[in-house]
Amino acid sequence: MAKRIQVLPERIAQKIAAGEVVERPASVVKELMENAIDARSSEIVVELKAGGLQLIRVIDNGEGIDPEDIPLALQRYATSKIRRIEDLYDIHTLGFRGEALPSISSVSRMIIKSRVAQALSGTRIICEGGVLTETSEIGCPAGTEVEVRDLFYNFPVKRKFLKSIRSELRQVLSQFLRLSLGHPSISFRLIHDDRVIQELVSSESTAVRIEAVLGTGTYEQLRPIASEEEEVQISGFASLPSFSRGTTEGIYLFVNDRFVRDRMVLKAMTDAYRHVIPSGKFPTVLLWITLPPSAVDVNVHPTKAEVKFRDPERVFHAVHTVLRALHEPVRQTLGSSFRDEFITEFKEREVPFPSLPIFLHTKGALSRSRMGEDIPSVREGAPSEWTVEPRRSLHLLGQAFDTFLICEVDEGLLFIDQHAAHERLLFEKFKRQIETQSVPVVKLLIPRLVELSAEESLALESSLGELYSLGFEIDPAGQKVFAIRSVPAVFDQIDPQEVLREILQETAVLSQGGKGTDILHTLLVTLACHSAIRGRASLQQEELEQLVGDLSFLRLSSTCPHGRPIFFLFPREELNRQFKRSR
Ligand code: ADP
Ligand code: MG
Repeated sequence: MAKRIQVLPERIAQKIAAGEVVERPASVVKELMENAIDARSSEIVVELKAGGLQLIRVIDNGEGIDPEDIPLALQRYATSKIRRIEDLYDIHTLGFRGEALPSISSVSRMIIKSRVAQALSGTRIICEGGVLTETSEIGCPAGTEVEVRDLFYNFPVKRKFLKSIRSELRQVLSQFLRLSLGHPSISFRLIHDDRVIQELVSSESTAVRIEAVLGTGTYEQLRPIASEEEEVQISGFASLPSFSRGTTEGIYLFVNDRFVRDRMVLKAMTDAYRHVIPSGKFPTVLLWITLPPSAVDVNVHPTKAEVKFRDPERVFHAVHTVLRALHEPVRQTLGSSFRDEFITEFKEREVPFPSLPIFLHTKGALSRSRMGEDIPSVREGAPSEWTVEPRRSLHLLGQAFDTFLICEVDEGLLFIDQHAAHERLLFEKFKRQIETQSVPVVKLLIPRLVELSAEESLALESSLGELYSLGFEIDPAGQKVFAIRSVPAVFDQIDPQEVLREILQETAVLSQGGKGTDILHTLLVTLACHSAIRGRASLQQEELEQLVGDLSFLRLSSTCPHGRPIFFLFPREELNRQFKRSR
């Protein structure tokens, strides 16, 4: 028999709806901060206990809520921000759906205290699992304070999906920073377990806010960008090509002052940086797109995390153009026409292109190796366990472009990317050292103090154990200041601060829910990459020989820890064929 349809009781319906808006403490913080911003506050304080799992409190000095309106604010679709359907296309506030407070209150214990400036007293309401239990008149400062305790206390399934305190805190921090980047004229403070995590003073300048949030080190790598074309106005900051990172975490997009994600805009950004930063790397970009509210639909996502442009192509074009202009001079020098000349020359002489299939093959193999598979040997029919045996069969011919080693082997000419090779060797070496707990360490005579951004500090705190096993002895030495006391011996000559920063950027994503081993792996990769000889470096004959000798245990299919190939074999038959020799 078919199951009968029933209308769910209000209590269940509310919880289902709440699930869309409230996923974790960070979503509560976002909604409450948005409300405080919409109320024209000039000061907003966010306080958490236990990553927000125990308590989230947002205090503002904004307009406050009228006593009669407070119970209304807890009802679904109750909002002071829109009145008519047309208003949906003329939104100037962050909120408008009237869903946040009812959703949050239905899955927590909530207390709201609020006073409008003109009133002598304020109002306090207490609400448990969506049920209003108490309303009273109280004395309180003008503005609003919303307290959310025991999130999901009545929704155990949801609570199970929450992560560790540290990881929830990091997500809160990134919401907090996004909103504060969009509103530099408001001062913000984030406090966790009675400790100030980030304090941002009000400023008229977006640049000042960006520097405070991202840290001076990152800020110095940014350049302003701006353009205006018909209805699309763009402003912001973008990194120089020399400064890239392994994730999209440095990319902030604001559309009409709302932080959103948009694949199309992200594509426009990465396209603009293509060929000027290595593939797989991303720039740091903070971009504000301003268009008439009617040119963008903000009502397409339950948490308003996405928008829909009326004319996406125009936006794509504008973003792409403004970012391209930033590094146009660099492109010209990099985009040397040598390759084109080479190709034309071949065409003119009507000589067949050299061994195209092999190049294509290598390219395909490269992308496969990203997915964790070994690169198959280039030579057809070669046994997959084919190892390069140095001294016996691997004869070093020399170095090209200060970048590649060229060796003669029975099968043909073997090209070796010296950086990739060295990186791989170091990776293996460090791994062995860690496994046997024998990492050589150098104690710094005078500890190096480094100052980090709030996000970097949190990332560092969660990786201190792993860093220690690698030879970094680091202690907290004040708010966002750390003392580096020892470093792995390989870093003796390199600025420890720079290495640390890079490691943190790489681990930032991982540790959001990351396991210790992932962090360790990332650290090993970064460590190897940093201490490996640079891509372009002219080496002494002995150094070359040594490197080639050390490669003995690697398979031809080996890749560097990032997944790039180390070897490229140009088959001997191909050489013969090019010179029209029979063998
Ligand atoms: P929305 O923000 O979409 O209107 P919410 O559920 O977040 O819906 O809030 C409902 C209403 O409560 C808001 O429209 C606003 O009038 C009022 N409100 C909520 N938070 C605050 C605050 N911090 N200061 C002033 N008014 C607030
Ligand atoms: Mg709201």
